Amino acid sequence: MKTPLFLLAFFMSFGLFAQDTYLHCGQLIDTRNGQLLKEMTVVVSNNEIIKVEKGFLKPKSKDDEVIDLKSKTVIPGLIDMHVHMEEESNPNSYVEPFTMNKEDIAFRSTQYAERTLMAGFTTVRDLGGSGVNTALRDAIDKGWVIGPRIYSAGKAIASTGGHADPTNGWMDDIVGDPGPEKGVVNGIEDARKAVRQRYKNGADVIKITATGGVLSVAKSSSNPQFTFEEIQAICTIARDYGMHVAAHAHGDEGMKRAILGGVKTIEHGTMMSEETMDLMVKHGVYLVPTLTAGKEVTANAKIEGYFPAIVVPKALDVGPRILGTFGKAYKKGVKIAFGTDAGVFKHGENGREFAYMEEAGMPAMEVIQSATFTNALVLENEKIGVIEVGAFADIIAVDGNPLEKIDVMTNVVFVMKNGVVYLK
Ligand SMILES: [Zn+2]
Repeated sequence: MKTPLFLLAFFMSFGLFAQDTYLHCGQLIDTRNGQLLKEMTVVVSNNEIIKVEKGFLKPKSKDDEVIDLKSKTVIPGLIDMHVHMEEESNPNSYVEPFTMNKEDIAFRSTQYAERTLMAGFTTVRDLGGSGVNTALRDAIDKGWVIGPRIYSAGKAIASTGGHADPTNGWMDDIVGDPGPEKGVVNGIEDARKAVRQRYKNGADVIKITATGGVLSVAKSSSNPQFTFEEIQAICTIARDYGMHVAAHAHGDEGMKRAILGGVKTIEHGTMMSEETMDLMVKHGVYLVPTLTAGKEVTANAKIEGYFPAIVVPKALDVGPRILGTFGKAYKKGVKIAFGTDAGVFKHGENGREFAYMEEAGMPAMEVIQSATFTNALVLENEKIGVIEVGAFADIIAVDGNPLEKIDVMTNVVFVMKNGVVYLK
């Protein structure tokens, strides 16, 4: 006779039928201490890590599963601080606002989410879309869609004509004045309203475009686009609602205002002066380098007709400079949070960033720590970015040793998120 369902549920609630997973790890990276450990076992129960021990432990029960990762290097699930789940650069990107409904964007974003997870990124911060990004977060949490944990900014906040004004370059008849609800603010009252609107819409973080940008249909990539007072108002209100602020910035003046105004991360940081690097250190602000985006816009700008003409010189100016600035900032002691700007390039290629960061002068171990432990600090989530007892079972593995050959980070061969294996 079968055990009645209600009895099964009763037993399971006491863990009597609990099946644990034993991961036998040839090598394991301790991201808190920056150490490579050999021959370790990680035991996972439900969605949590319950044991991390030296040696290859035998399972306690015959129901337990053993996963052999003895020839792999095991790393906490990777975290990308800068993605755009709603988009992926292509020659039609600038027409899509007129040809795609939100439903289309939503369905398309699900495959980007899945690719991101399969590349080993178990958590991402989405720094701007239409609000589909926030719905995608919920759909993933509910198990409707396969993808990473998402911290969503919803729609980014800009000033009129600024980098994230969604109507830049449109014809007069439809251009309109989007206003704070759509993330376009002018003045302190607008700024406060826009943050509160994002809270109402379910955002986790706030994104502002503190300076011009490369891909918007506008002249400057680097002019300051908020007053100091506007940025300060945004950061103050965000703090009230438990959200941090991420600032897109290429130009130095806008960056300075953002740092002094209270943002937590500077995205890109292309033209950061040494004085501003010192300011970053002093205020404990993180730089999110997005080197892969720099490489990609430089390459695409050389393809005839890929970008609108106004974008091309900006891409050729900004793109090649990001890596050098990042290297200098790292050497000056600026805190580095790993982030790629995926969406500007293909989702799932986020791992390219590792090699670029190493090329710029950051040792491989520190790059891996930035993509795990450091990013968890930025997100103030103690349950991710580490393989430790009590953490979420977000665990990945690569072939070989990334400390010797960092390119292996583009080829993740095992992915577990929240205790569920997605790639083996
Ligand atoms: Zn971005």
